[in-house]
Amino acid sequence: MTVDRSRCNGLGVCEAFAPDVFEVDDNGDLVLLTEQLTDAQLEGVDQAIAACPTEALSRA
Ligand code: SF4
Repeated sequence: MTVDRSRCNGLGVCEAFAPDVFEVDDNGDLVLLTEQLTDAQLEGVDQAIAACPTEALSRA
């Protein structure tokens, strides 16, 4: 999973779907909490990818 940081607006929609993977810090920057995703996390990540309003996330 990759983040195109030039597209990310830091509003944290992804955090709502996968809070153990994504976190928006106090500066509004997206932090990835893990690179090794479990099957359960992948489900949330796929939902986050679909829901991200700026298409900043991809499965690649
Ligand atoms: S939902 Fe998309 S734009 Fe919003 S913080 Fe997450 S990656 Fe960035």
